Amino acid sequence: MRDDIDREKLERHLRRRRQELEEAREAKARDGAPKELDQARVGRLSRMDAMQQQAMGQAAARLAEVELQRIQTALNRVASGEYGYCILCDEPIAPKRLQFDPSLLTCIDCAQKAEED
Ligand SMILES: [Zn+2]
Repeated sequence: MRDDIDREKLERHLRRRRQELEEAREAKARDGAPKELDQARVGRLSRMDAMQQQAMGQAAARLAEVELQRIQTALNRVASGEYGYCILCDEPIAPKRLQFDPSLLTCIDCAQKAEED
């Protein structure tokens, strides 16, 4: 257990962010499937724009799912007392890193190695 990070505050951040992401997902589900493009009304170019926007929306949704999973893992680690330690090497994660993003699960060294791979 670490005493150099404000675990309760970071946990509050995690829970709030999880709620935001879940609400965004629910709102998206409520809106239903992407609307059929009105081909008669929209020109070729704006149709491309619409398709691009749709693709960006899907990419954003995937990113949100990944973040949700990371947050859930972080919260599990809060519960088990492992929060704040790198999941790869068990070294403490720098407090600044956790303040930047409380859902980060690795130390800076492991994060950089992962990027190099
Ligand atoms: Zn590490």
